[in-house]
Amino acid sequence: MNSERKNAGSLIRGCFSALKACAVVALGGLMFATQSSAQGAEQNTSEFVIRNVRIFDGGKVIPKGQVWVQNGKIKAVGADVKAPASVRAIDGEGQTLLPGLIDAHTHAWGDALKEALIFGVTTELDMFTDYKYAAQVRSEQAAGKDLDMADLRSAGTLVTAPKGHGTEYGMPIPTITAPAEAQAFVDARIAEGSDYIKIIYDDGRKYGMSIPTISKETMCAVVTATHKRGKMAVAHIGSLVGARDAVECGVDGLVHLFIDAAPDAAFADLVAKHHAFVVPTMSVLATITRAPGGKLLSEDAQLQPYLTPASMKNLGGTFSKPSGEFSIPQQTIKLLKARNVPILAGTDAPNPGTVHGASLHGEMEMLVAAGLTPVEALAAATSVPAKSFHLEDRGQIAAGKRADLLLVKGDPTTDIKATRNIVTVWKVGVQADRAAYRAKVEKEKQAEDVQKKSPAPEGSESGLISDFEDGKASARFGFGWVVSTDAIRGGKSTADMKVVDSGAEGSKSALLVNGEIVENAISWAGAMFFPGAAPMAPVNLSARKTLTFWAKGDGHKYSVMVYSASGGYIPKVQSFTPGTEWTKVSLPLSDFETDGHDLTGIFFGAFGGSGKFTLTIDSIRLE
Ligand SMILES: [Zn+2]
Repeated sequence: MNSERKNAGSLIRGCFSALKACAVVALGGLMFATQSSAQGAEQNTSEFVIRNVRIFDGGKVIPKGQVWVQNGKIKAVGADVKAPASVRAIDGEGQTLLPGLIDAHTHAWGDALKEALIFGVTTELDMFTDYKYAAQVRSEQAAGKDLDMADLRSAGTLVTAPKGHGTEYGMPIPTITAPAEAQAFVDARIAEGSDYIKIIYDDGRKYGMSIPTISKETMCAVVTATHKRGKMAVAHIGSLVGARDAVECGVDGLVHLFIDAAPDAAFADLVAKHHAFVVPTMSVLATITRAPGGKLLSEDAQLQPYLTPASMKNLGGTFSKPSGEFSIPQQTIKLLKARNVPILAGTDAPNPGTVHGASLHGEMEMLVAAGLTPVEALAAATSVPAKSFHLEDRGQIAAGKRADLLLVKGDPTTDIKATRNIVTVWKVGVQADRAAYRAKVEKEKQAEDVQKKSPAPEGSESGLISDFEDGKASARFGFGWVVSTDAIRGGKSTADMKVVDSGAEGSKSALLVNGEIVENAISWAGAMFFPGAAPMAPVNLSARKTLTFWAKGDGHKYSVMVYSASGGYIPKVQSFTPGTEWTKVSLPLSDFETDGHDLTGIFFGAFGGSGKFTLTIDSIRLE
């Protein structure tokens, strides 16, 4: 299905547009390496006691009690805790203390974990990211750093078939084809650091696609191989049939529910019999089925001040075409609950319509709408994932546990939406600086408003960027053209550009880009146009709706990547395959999910793949 390729470029929305509930993979810092933001190891000697507070300890509610925190751990909990008067006291009257929240299905990179913590999510269970990123975070966590971000557990690289879901992001990953490869494959993932193994078992059929997937036999072999090493195996499924197969193979949990087939009591019996848990991911299923979800969160007055412009935008995001029925997972949850199947809150952030942190509050609300009590929904985001993933040190407010805590106004044990009324978040007893984060978001929003009102760059009036008729790689406005390759991310791809004779439409000159892609984690090579006065400086070109250019190639597929300030350093990508004769390419800016108000760069060239390439472009315009 061509929408796969077409939209595969949309990296933040990096899912197949049709095979929807899926992983988005780490491509942060594609053009510019982003800074790792490990805090220095803090001496964590915090000590305080929260008094007169309602406590949800992960299982039950203590109507009024105290929680004493010392050295990053909970020292005592209860109605009659006697902390010395010298210990700093926090009055919790009218408030509720919860264990730090755990999001049981995310894809983490960049600032994801920082954003999560601000909303009280103190642990994220990642279901596919760059294993090197996960390894880096793990080592920082082990050194007592990263106190300003949620803790991470990660599946690292997922298990999928050649060309299966998970391979579409331009980042080569190993794949598996037969049961005999299972043990070596799983061992390699464990060697990379995977905390658990995530399996893709989804042929896309339920979305009208045909995507390669592993066989049931291979899935079963992977589960066996994983269990042999004492690790957990979880499965991404796309249908009721797929879910049934996965449970029969003995997966520890399903990390999605299906939206394709009516609820089935026999299925719920099967899950219960196998003692599997389920992460429904209602947040992303709402996006897929076009049920209300992300947009409502973006309008929530308690969440909004902490949502960056990029997060606001992602919460309003959708997949290209809706499918499935939201009522199906809702009814399935009721059946699972009736059989005491553990239900875990997980969002699948940052897929369209979801964001790290805020979406977990929406997920809990959706679980309540599906039949969980507020207390059960709170457990689904605290003690239940901790128990299911064997995170013994968290998920509960109990003596000896980590002081990962969330203090909210009101009573979420009766009104689940009260979780959004956040007073304080602590990770191992260290208070998250929500005020500073809010100020940073406010500044970003102001800058965005200023940007929206700024005039278009001088020289852009005609819409022409470059026609190269002066014999130079010049542009009518902006910083102009530079060669861009993955070398800045440690890759080995190369490119050069020069102006050559015989342009499009009988014109004199055009820009020739020659290069070679050397396969790497993320590989690209080509020519980048910076529309601002400096590289990556945003300009307002919102009056322009379509990028047009002429191209001549060698039969290979090429990509245009559009960068915007609100999209950070993660571009949106569209591909085109020019013939050996000049052809005109026309791409609406909306396909790059931008209104053009903060464009920072436009790249033309090769993205992914391998080998030499030759691309000539001419008459590049924003119309
Ligand atoms: Zn996912």
